[in-house]
Amino acid sequence: MTRARLAGVLAGALLIIFASTCSQGPKADYPAAPVPFTDVHLTDAFWAPRLEMNRTVTIPHVFKQSEETGRVKNFELAEAALEGATDGKYCSRYPFDDSDVYKTIEAASYALATHSDPELDRYVNGLIAKIAAAQEPDGYLYAARTIGGPPPQPWLGKERWAHLYMSHELYNVGHLYEAAAAHTQATGKKNLLAIATKSADLVAREFGPGKRTNPPGHEEIEIGLVKLYRVTGTRKYLDLAKFFIDARGRTEGRIPFVENPREGKEQLLYGEYAQDHKPFIEQTEAVGHAVRAGYLYAGAADVAALTGDAAYIAALEKIWADMAGTKLYITGGIGAAGGWEGYGPPYRLPNLSAYAETCANIATFLWNSRMQRLGLDAKYADVMERILYNGVLSGISLSGDKFFYPNPLASFGQHERVPWFSCACCPPNVARILTSVPGYFYAASNDKVYVNLFAQGTGKMRVAGTDLELVQTTDYPWKGDIRIEVRPAKDAEFTLAVRVPGWALNRPVPTDLYTYMEPPGEPWPTLKVNGQDVKLPHGLDKGYALIKRTWKAGDVVELSLPMPVRRVVANEAVEADRGRVAVERGPLVYCAEWTDNDGRVANIVFPDGATLAAESRPDLLGGVVVLTGEAEAVSEKAGKIVVEKKPVTLIPYYTWANRGRGEMAVWLAREPGKARVAREPGLSAKAVVTASERAVNPKRANDQFEPESSDDAAGYMHWWPKKGTAEWIDYTFETPVRVSESSVYWFDDTGGGGCRVPASWRILYKTGEDWLPVKAAGEYAVAKDAWNTVKFSPVRTKALRLEVQLQDDWSAGVHEWTIK
Ligand SMILES: [Zn+2]
Repeated sequence: MTRARLAGVLAGALLIIFASTCSQGPKADYPAAPVPFTDVHLTDAFWAPRLEMNRTVTIPHVFKQSEETGRVKNFELAEAALEGATDGKYCSRYPFDDSDVYKTIEAASYALATHSDPELDRYVNGLIAKIAAAQEPDGYLYAARTIGGPPPQPWLGKERWAHLYMSHELYNVGHLYEAAAAHTQATGKKNLLAIATKSADLVAREFGPGKRTNPPGHEEIEIGLVKLYRVTGTRKYLDLAKFFIDARGRTEGRIPFVENPREGKEQLLYGEYAQDHKPFIEQTEAVGHAVRAGYLYAGAADVAALTGDAAYIAALEKIWADMAGTKLYITGGIGAAGGWEGYGPPYRLPNLSAYAETCANIATFLWNSRMQRLGLDAKYADVMERILYNGVLSGISLSGDKFFYPNPLASFGQHERVPWFSCACCPPNVARILTSVPGYFYAASNDKVYVNLFAQGTGKMRVAGTDLELVQTTDYPWKGDIRIEVRPAKDAEFTLAVRVPGWALNRPVPTDLYTYMEPPGEPWPTLKVNGQDVKLPHGLDKGYALIKRTWKAGDVVELSLPMPVRRVVANEAVEADRGRVAVERGPLVYCAEWTDNDGRVANIVFPDGATLAAESRPDLLGGVVVLTGEAEAVSEKAGKIVVEKKPVTLIPYYTWANRGRGEMAVWLAREPGKARVAREPGLSAKAVVTASERAVNPKRANDQFEPESSDDAAGYMHWWPKKGTAEWIDYTFETPVRVSESSVYWFDDTGGGGCRVPASWRILYKTGEDWLPVKAAGEYAVAKDAWNTVKFSPVRTKALRLEVQLQDDWSAGVHEWTIK
C-alpha cells in the first residue's frame, strides 16, 4: 500500500490520474493521514451491526424518501426544461433538496466500497444519469432554477449567484463534489466526477479574485473542493476553497443583497449567522448557524493542512477553545438556539430547548477529526468520540429508519423520531457518517500510528516502510479492556500512539466546561506492552501513550480503562445545569427515560450519596448496559409535597425515544428543590380543554407538568402571534364540579420571544348558556415565575373559563392552569 492510498485514493485507475497531476499540488498535508474506512474492518457487537443496518435499511430508506418526496423528480424536471419544457414546477420544498440526493449517493458509495451490491450500483448509476441530464451545458447544476416556474422559496435570487446568502447554490454542489469523490474512490467510475468537475470548473470561472467575490451563505463547497482536489490533483479547486474562506467577512467586490425584503435594505455581509461578520482569520468564537459553522471550520482545517497557513490554524484553535469551553453539550450536541439553528452565547446551554441538530453534531465531529490530524492531540479525539457515541447516534433510531433533527437533553414527551423531514438534511447525513465510521479509528504518519477510537476489528496501514495490521479485541464501549495485537509484515521501529481517553483521566472534556465529581485519578487506567507495565498518565504526550520500539508480529498492547459510573457537573456559569448532575460510564452519556421509571423522570432527585450499578441487558434496546440504583422523587400527595425513595434506571442517551413518547432527562436534580414536582392529577386533569381561535397547544394548560419558571421551554400553550386581544381557555366537565380556587402559571419569554404576562384576567363559570364572573376574594395577579392564585365563592358548574386580556403589543401564554 502507498501513501496515496493512505490519503484515501482507493481505485487503481485513480493512481494514474494522481500521478499525472499531483506535481501541481502543494507538498504540505495533514501530519497524519486517516486510515481509510476500507482498510478498517469492524467485527464488534456495537458498530458492525449498525453499519450493516445502515447499508440495508437506512440508505435504501433515504433513497426511497428522496423518490417519494420529489427530490429525484426535480432532476427529471430540470432535464425536461433543458429540452424545452416550460410548464415544470420544482416539486419539493427547498432548493437545497438536491443535496439530499448527493449525500445519499456519497453514503451508498461508501457502502459499495466494502460490499459488492450490483443492484445498488445500478440504481446509483441511474441517479447519476438523471443528475447529468439536469446539468446545464456550461456546468450549472441547481434544479430549482433550471426548471423555471414558480420558485420553491423567495430566496432563490433573480439570477444565478445573486442571493448566495440563502440560495444554497454553492452548498448543493459542495455535497455533489463530496459524493463524486466518494463514488470515484469506491467504484473507479468517473461519471459523477465528470459532472462535479464540470460544475467546479464553472464555479472557478465565475468566482475568484477580480471576478465574483461573494462567498456561499451556507458553507460546504470548501470541503467538497478539497476532496475534488485530492481526487483530481487539480490545484485550482484547492485555491478556490481557500478563496471562499478568505472572502468571508470582506466587502471587496461583493454584490449587495437584500436580507429582509420587507425592509428592502441592501447589505454586503451576511453577518454572524453565516460566519461572515469578520474575516475568517480574525474570528475567535464559534457563532451562528452551527451546520454552516462546522463545515466552514472543517474546510478551513483542510486548507490549513494543505497550505500550512498558520493564521488559519491559530483561528481554528481559538474557535475550537470557545466551542469546547463554553458551547458544547455534555452529549456532544452543538447549537443551543433553535431560532437560528445555531450557537448561543457562551454557557447558554438549555436542555429542554436544546437544538443540537444532528447535522451540526456531524459537522463538528468532522471538524474535530481534522483537528486531531492537524494538531495530533487526543483532546480533539475526545470531543470526536463524545459527539459520535452520543450526539450523532441519538440522531437515528435503533431501527435505522427514524430520525431526530434536534437532539434535546430533556423532554416532557413532545419529542418523537420520524421517518423524514420536509427539510431533510439530517437523515442522509447520518447515513454517510455511519458508513464511514471505521475511517475515524486510525491515523498514520511516516513513523507513527494513532489509535483514536476503540472497537473489535482490524486496521491495515503502512508505517515505517512496512505493512501493518492492528487487531483490536475488546467489548468497547461496554467494557474498557482493549487488547491490540501489533502485526507488522516485518520488524520495524515506529511509534504506536494509543489514545488514553480524557474521560478515563478524569476529564470529561478538554476544558473546564464539565468536571467529574469523583476524586481525580481513581481508578486510573493501565497500559501494558507484552505484559510489562507502561507508566500512565505521566508518560502521555497530548493525551497519547507513545510507545516507540521495534515492533514484531505478535506484540501485544493492553489498555485497561476502568469504567465506574461517573457523575458530571457543569461549570457554574451554565445556569441550566446548576444543582444538577449527569451520569456517564465510559464514553457514553446516560439519561433517565419515562418508561423505565414509572412514567416520570422530571421529579427524580439523584442525591450526591446515591450509587448506581452497571447491569448488562442484552435484551434491551439492542443490547445495552443500564445503570440502576435508588434515588428520590418529589411528588404531591394529598396536597402535600413529599420526597420519597424511588428506584431509578438510566439508559445510554443515544437509545432514548425508541419506546414511545415521554419524559427524558440527562441532567438530574441533586436536591429536591431542583426537581419538578409530580403533581397529583387534580380537578383540571379531568377537564376537556378548548381555547379561543388559533391558540397553540391548548392541552398543555392541564398537562400537570410543573414549570420551573415563566420562560421554561416546556409544556406551555400560547396565543402567539396574536397581540392585544381577548382570549380564553375553557375547562369542561362531564358532570358538574364544585370549584373555589384557581391558579395560573403564566408563560413569559421576555428576552427571547413575544409573550408577556397578560394585562388582566378573570375566571368565569357557566350557568345554563351564560358565562358569569366568579366572586373573587382577592386580586387577579399577573406575577412571573410564580403561581397566581385566586380564591372565590364556591360555584357548581360544568364549565370554567380563564379569560385573558393580552397586553397591547404582546402575546401571552399559560404554562399551567389548575383549579380546586
Ligand atoms: Zn440537518
